Amino acid sequence: MQMLIGGKHVDAKSKRTFDNVNPFNGEIVCTVPSGNSEDFEEAARIAKAAQPVWAGTPFYKRADIIRRFIGLVRENLEKIAKVVTAEGGKTITDARGELECLCMVFESFIEAARHLYGNTVPLNAEARTEGDIIFTVREPIGVFAAITPFNFPIELYAHKVAPVLITGNAVIIKPASDTPCAALMLTELLLEAGVPGGIAQVITGSGREVGAWLAETNNVDGVSFTGSTKVGIELMRGGAHNLQHVFLELGGNDPHVFFEDCDMDLAVAEAIGGRCYNAGQTCCANKRFIVQNSIKKEFIERLIEAAKNYKIGDPSDPETAMGCLVSVKAAEAVMDEIQSVIDQGGKLLYGGKRNGAFVDPTIIEVTKENDVAKDLEIFGPVFPIIGFDTFEEAVEIANQTSYGLASAVMTNDINKAMKFATAVQAGTCVINGSGNYRSVHQPFGGYKHSGIGREGTSHTLYEVTQEKTIAIRNSLK
Ligand code: NAD
Repeated sequence: MQMLIGGKHVDAKSKRTFDNVNPFNGEIVCTVPSGNSEDFEEAARIAKAAQPVWAGTPFYKRADIIRRFIGLVRENLEKIAKVVTAEGGKTITDARGELECLCMVFESFIEAARHLYGNTVPLNAEARTEGDIIFTVREPIGVFAAITPFNFPIELYAHKVAPVLITGNAVIIKPASDTPCAALMLTELLLEAGVPGGIAQVITGSGREVGAWLAETNNVDGVSFTGSTKVGIELMRGGAHNLQHVFLELGGNDPHVFFEDCDMDLAVAEAIGGRCYNAGQTCCANKRFIVQNSIKKEFIERLIEAAKNYKIGDPSDPETAMGCLVSVKAAEAVMDEIQSVIDQGGKLLYGGKRNGAFVDPTIIEVTKENDVAKDLEIFGPVFPIIGFDTFEEAVEIANQTSYGLASAVMTNDINKAMKFATAVQAGTCVINGSGNYRSVHQPFGGYKHSGIGREGTSHTLYEVTQEKTIAIRNSLK
């Protein structure tokens, strides 16, 4: 495959490429260019020139083009889903689901943007503005770089590209190196639908290259990033020279608290479903299982049973519930982290085995002092179980992390649930479900080191536009 710059399929100027490998069978899915700062800068210059024309295109015409794109995605859904499964090990069922979600996200942003109203300042609010009419309009910011992680190559593409385009910005997309194909296929469809070539461009290549370039260029006005906290901090620092509008959706080590009065069937189903979804590679997955000591033994027994019955296998089989991780390297990293948890005193109760890019669901009992009970985010199907006695202790363990993305609590006492929801330091709290939960419309994002800003139809439009005040002087005098 080739990159998309200025509406053309191009190789990297350096001619360098890298292979994208199917983690399930080791076959090469595609070979893509390895772009560098020269490619990025060329795309940014083209975007700078094209963006004012796109911003000047009436809203309803931009909406028509994007609606055409949604139709094209539906026509090509099966073809793209197969590629997503091949390049990332995601189950075919989840890949199809992500594409359906993309259509909903694009549709929702068209509707939300249609109601992106400005404000009117109350008339004659001050003596010095008497007779003036003061109102505001929202305008695009300019050229955005959108950097996505490997785990949701479709859904996160949608959450970045849809709001940026509908509001009249231009976007340069840098997909993750492990899953570059989906963004290329989707952007081809955007161009086919009528988005100008300078408005949606894709450059594949290493994250370090794009980070170094963003720290130098003056041709990017905004950065929309989803990925690790470490990289998010680097981007924030790098963007300072040009005051880029940087908004960040970052990592998490989310608590899932189980009180003794919870519904045990629901508790186990939500624990396993949340953690094993996408083979444990979800930012807002339940990653720390904080269980009241009075029910811990039963919870662990039931969880082991559920893990044994979880259907793991070929990602392209519609019956498979959990496929493999994104790469053998990622699976090896998870195994190293499991070992480090055990080295710190964790008691391995189930799993702990790897086969190629597959990691078994792994259940480990740990104390609240273990790194995994604080800041060690494991991106795989690992269940650290941490016991507690009192409500206060549950809150203390839940909050003893520098992250704050999502959280969850299981109890049949709504007052207790609400007390927990207000005490937990996280951007989302789910009651009686796992925190692995995202509505298209909610403000999704993190407290503390889990990010800055929020995504969702209720929010991203404010991140990607700026508000202008217009004052008509003396018109009412
Ligand atoms: P990552 O930070 O390594 O990579 C994300 C993207 O950034 C990739 O495209 C990568 O190529 C690029 N990148 C890497 N180094 C870079 C640099 N120095 N400058 C600029 N870009 C760079 O993350 P990952 O391993 O792909 O994804 C896993 C992480 O993402 C986890 O921490 C997870 O929790 C987080 N995540 C967060 C959300 C959210 O919405 N909050 C969603 C999904 C994933």
